[in-house]
Amino acid sequence: LSTHLKSYKSDYNIFVIYTKENYRLNMKFDLFAHSLFKHTNAQLHLHIITDKDSEISALDILQRQIKRFRRILVYTMYDVQLCSKSIQDIATKLSPYFSSAPNSYYSDSLFFLSLGLHRIADVSLNRAVLLDCDIVFRSDVRLLFEEFDRFLPDQLFGLAPELTPVYRHILYRYRVRFPKSNFGNPYYPMQLIKNNENILVPKRVHERHGYPGLNSGVVLMLFHRIRDSKAYIDALTEHEVHRLVAKYSFKGHLGDQDFFTLLGYEYPNLIYRLDCIWNRQLCTWWKDHGYSDIFDAYFRCEGVIKMYHGNCNTRIPE
Ligand code: UDP
Ligand code: MN
Repeated sequence: LSTHLKSYKSDYNIFVIYTKENYRLNMKFDLFAHSLFKHTNAQLHLHIITDKDSEISALDILQRQIKRFRRILVYTMYDVQLCSKSIQDIATKLSPYFSSAPNSYYSDSLFFLSLGLHRIADVSLNRAVLLDCDIVFRSDVRLLFEEFDRFLPDQLFGLAPELTPVYRHILYRYRVRFPKSNFGNPYYPMQLIKNNENILVPKRVHERHGYPGLNSGVVLMLFHRIRDSKAYIDALTEHEVHRLVAKYSFKGHLGDQDFFTLLGYEYPNLIYRLDCIWNRQLCTWWKDHGYSDIFDAYFRCEGVIKMYHGNCNTRIPE
């Protein structure tokens, strides 16, 4: 039912990392595949970055879901160690600033895969999306690819906002120095006003939206543009990364997403803003860790959800 071709042409190229397979990851990928095929009959090309053991498990899951939905699937498997090698220079440069375990072994460099995927993908590919395994579809993935039609000429990547105050936390020192900064604020700012009963309630302010950072569970990529972008290559130089990190006193731990967040603030023209309905994160960890008062302002996402992201092992609503 599935073939194995690198140069096969599909309009729907989906990359996913599936390594160090275990029970929990297996469940996530099963739900990912199930919800993907349930909502689309598009001819997909799945690109899976994986290791030997995980590859067997991935194929097993895909085989079952393909049969169930009577789909045809083209896939390519990529060896995780080779992929890590191809982006090692990026990982080495960034991990001191954006990793909780800097300079550790190869798996660490996978956190930065999205930043160098254009080196790994076949040169014939242009539009592609990189998705976490803990994504669950509620609509046809074709609609996600339609978002590429809205990219402006400078835009290389498309990402949705981070829906927690993690960057408010990371930018604490910067925000003390620049209290008026919008960096680390929720997308919809909240202002407290008194209601009819004289109780303080949040009021939404429309004039200026905040910049909470970006989440890398869903990343749209235009490989041709990324490969040709001088601005992007320059942003990834040691000197520029250091400048950015120093400017914001930034010490992150979320890999590529930390870099995208800085990039999106400093060079907003390079990133297309996906609506949160394409990456409706569900992790509420920060609500119970010092941010209960303002968490809801970050967590809010209005509209019909098209893709859930069960991050930090959160269950997807029925
Ligand atoms: N991943 C993997 N093996 C692991 C852990 C993570 O392949 O042991 C991949 C998988 O695609 C996963 C992604 O890395 O979706 C990011 O991890 P996760 O979604 O758990 O992070 P979160 O979104 O909760 O921050
Ligand atoms: Mn995730």
